[in-house]
Amino acid sequence: MRRENEKDGRVDLSVPPADEIKTTTCYMCACRCGIKVYLKDGKIRYIEGNRDHPVNKGVLCGKGSAGIMQHYSPARLQAPLLRVGPRGSGEFKEISWEQALDIATGWLARVRTTNPRQLAFFTGRDQSQSLTGWWAIQFGTPNYAAHGGFCSVNMAAAGLYTFGGSFWEFGEPDWELTRYFMLFGVAEDHASNPIKIGLGKLKKKGAKIVAVNPVRTGYGAIADEWVGIKPGTDGLFVAALIRELLLSRKIDLDYLVRYTNAPWLVIQDAGAADHGLFARGGADEPLAFDKRTGALVDANGADIAPALSGTFTLPDGRKAVPVFELLARRFLSDEYAPERVGAETAVAADTIRRIASELARAAFEEEVVLDVAWTDWAGRRHDKMIGRPVSMHAMRGISAHSNGFHTCRMIHILQILLGSIDCPGGYRYKAPYPKCIPPRLKPTGKPGQVTRNEPLGGPHLGFPTSPEDLLVDAEGNPQRIDKAFSWDAPLAAHGLMHMVITNAALRDPYPIDVLFMYMANMAWNSTMNTPAVLEHLTARDEKTGEYKIPKIIYSDAYFSEMVPYADLVLPDTTYLERWDCISLLDRPISEPDGPADAIRQPVVEPDRDVRPFQSVLIDLGWRLGLSGFTNADDSRKYPGGYPDYIVNHERLPGVGPLAGWRGDGTSFGTGAPNPEQLKRYVENGGFHVHHLAPHMRYHRHANRDYLDWAVTMGYLGDANQLVFQLYVEPMQRFRLAADGHGSVQPPEQHRKRIAAYFDPLPFWYRPFEGKMIDAGAFPMYAITQRPMHMYHSWGSQNAWLRQITAQNRLYMNRCKAAELGIGDEDWVWIASHIGRVKAQVKLMEGVNPDTVWTWNAIGKRSGAWGLDKNAPEAKRAFLLNHLISELLPEREGGYHYSNSDPITGQAAWYDLRVRIEKARPGEAHETYPRFEPLRPLDHIRPPAVLSFGAEFAKKRR
Ligand code: SF4
Repeated sequence: MRRENEKDGRVDLSVPPADEIKTTTCYMCACRCGIKVYLKDGKIRYIEGNRDHPVNKGVLCGKGSAGIMQHYSPARLQAPLLRVGPRGSGEFKEISWEQALDIATGWLARVRTTNPRQLAFFTGRDQSQSLTGWWAIQFGTPNYAAHGGFCSVNMAAAGLYTFGGSFWEFGEPDWELTRYFMLFGVAEDHASNPIKIGLGKLKKKGAKIVAVNPVRTGYGAIADEWVGIKPGTDGLFVAALIRELLLSRKIDLDYLVRYTNAPWLVIQDAGAADHGLFARGGADEPLAFDKRTGALVDANGADIAPALSGTFTLPDGRKAVPVFELLARRFLSDEYAPERVGAETAVAADTIRRIASELARAAFEEEVVLDVAWTDWAGRRHDKMIGRPVSMHAMRGISAHSNGFHTCRMIHILQILLGSIDCPGGYRYKAPYPKCIPPRLKPTGKPGQVTRNEPLGGPHLGFPTSPEDLLVDAEGNPQRIDKAFSWDAPLAAHGLMHMVITNAALRDPYPIDVLFMYMANMAWNSTMNTPAVLEHLTARDEKTGEYKIPKIIYSDAYFSEMVPYADLVLPDTTYLERWDCISLLDRPISEPDGPADAIRQPVVEPDRDVRPFQSVLIDLGWRLGLSGFTNADDSRKYPGGYPDYIVNHERLPGVGPLAGWRGDGTSFGTGAPNPEQLKRYVENGGFHVHHLAPHMRYHRHANRDYLDWAVTMGYLGDANQLVFQLYVEPMQRFRLAADGHGSVQPPEQHRKRIAAYFDPLPFWYRPFEGKMIDAGAFPMYAITQRPMHMYHSWGSQNAWLRQITAQNRLYMNRCKAAELGIGDEDWVWIASHIGRVKAQVKLMEGVNPDTVWTWNAIGKRSGAWGLDKNAPEAKRAFLLNHLISELLPEREGGYHYSNSDPITGQAAWYDLRVRIEKARPGEAHETYPRFEPLRPLDHIRPPAVLSFGAEFAKKRR
């Protein structure tokens, strides 16, 4: 037989590997790398990284190349489904899209015309929140959020209330110039290619990398130093570093005066209604004491010489002190002395002192100077850009604790004291950040703000700055189903998705009628206390026998554990079959040197009766007559579905989902819709980057040209300097309310908690679970880590990636295990205060001795995801989720707070405390608990051996 690559008896070495190559954006994790998809005979043959793409510059990780098996997964849903058996039984019948959309429209219309609060619409790890949020505004329910509340809202809120940016995708280290890099608790699946590329640069240049993490895996393994800290104590460690820097006077005082509220005076009048607020002048300007003139002056004045310490008398005779004085008092306290924090953190005092001095040396003795002139907000010309080459990055290890907000604030304060925000070598913002501190958006959904058949009057999510912004009624009761923006979690800027099912089933604060979810595996690995949540999903009203959550609509591309608990299933496409936009209105792919956005385009057509969820949502919007999706003559506003919306939707005149090639194709940022826009993105490899001029690339919080430009782009409302808030005054307003001041005050049972945690200066406190349970009975910390090669449950069902990890083990410190009489590969019981899980142990050295950990989301429920019911993921893998309570143990008065940060509502996954006991010999073979296997859908018939590419190889033979 003649080979495909044989010509005239000679092997042709240049056979085109594909008939066609299409560029799009990877969705095998949240990094959003550019990819090239090679197509042969209409099938995907190969995926490679796009070398021109700003995010990955051609790098493709294992997950990205395994996108092929995600696309051809046997677990893909095939058609819309309607439940016909009891919820959870997996008994469905296939229905047409017309029937499915009719049913959904009927359910949703009833809610909209009676009480829009009865719809709870929550989305998981999708990347289209500017559309889903807009849809929920048009619908009129306040009950909307995406998954940020159980992911990283602690970090987002801490950053946005402190310096108008944040870790994760709001900014990144200056990989080119940093000399000292600290990495706190980073999830290696989320921060994947971009951070790997960055770490490679640091290694090449000899910069020092310090990994602060209870576990030494991937990035920690290549770090120059591993700080094996105890979970939840990072704040204490950082506070001790701050103390050392203050004591040694290694802080950038000029930077503090120039860019922060360090000199602003704080009223000291205990018991008064304005105690702890900023002293202000007649025009409401914050005041500082000017050492040159000996007078109180506008603290934002350009050329003042403000005092940073001392006590000053205000015109009304009361006393006030500068923020810096309060900050110094806080962190110079003995409480944060290295010797005192050593036992709690497991970091030796010497190590703390050495790291503090290394930070200072890098910041102040290795200063970076760029010969780039720039103009500051006051019009002062600077002929150079000066940088402190210290940068930091953090993720779930910080955010997933009940003390994460304050811990993250401390990390930012450390960066600011060193003068390393948005300077050469430091942390760098990515557009549209920096934002106003905090952003001006306020949440909507107070009593009177939700009207039948009307859109919501504003955004769901926002940044409260006083109790008046909370979504509570006159008695202080929550107005959202997840209790976001209530006294339970006042600054819940991303909502509390982890509480929706529990609250809805308990009808606390009220019942709902329709739960509508997208891409969130809430019946398994995306939820706390999985056994209880499964009960909530199937709980019935004692009187009527109806489900307590009457209707559940769910959209997913795969047969995840959540699907059997839905009443109506809307099957989504894979990421290679649809249009998408990675928008500056949402979570863009910007680079520090300029804003960027991107698209996905369908590289293949769906071969099943599935539709892209975003287009389905737009269709539903029109069927419901929502004004954002319906023209005045009742016709569809976006007849072409999501791609039509991407091009033609305008959030504000001239501002749409994509910023590139607007208007006649030459405008960036603003401009009329351009019918050719998607074509231009496709021609450019699927992305658009706008490069900032060099003089606008640093000091952007105070850079005149950048600020002016950001206003024209709509990123900022005005071009005033963004002053970093070491002291967050809005928090004090909540504390004053708890002390009995103001028109909106917390109900009695919340006062103590608000007063305790709404401290305007950060502080460290023990994570809640360890404080509230008998910690002696549960002496170990238990956390998960994210495998670099998998992204949540998507990756662990992927035929290629499963070959890397199909069973997760409980990793333990070898010495600790010996103390407990546990050997490698032994089976153990892991007990928390709510349950027990059985798992197999793997011993290692690189883990804090008091900590056990495992890979996240490997365990699967038998029967789900198109896997064999005896797959290792179902029989030998496990989830720690079953051990994490979604509610804290009962407090005085019988009230249960959620297991969350008290400020932002961030799920406290990593507060978990456990006890480890060796399993008896007869128990040592499979994990526990085991749930009834899910009944596979009729159309899901996985082959005995799943293979790929045989047809391509055959053709070559
Ligand atoms: S890092 Fe994430 S987005 Fe990039 S190639 Fe890997 S899986 Fe895809």
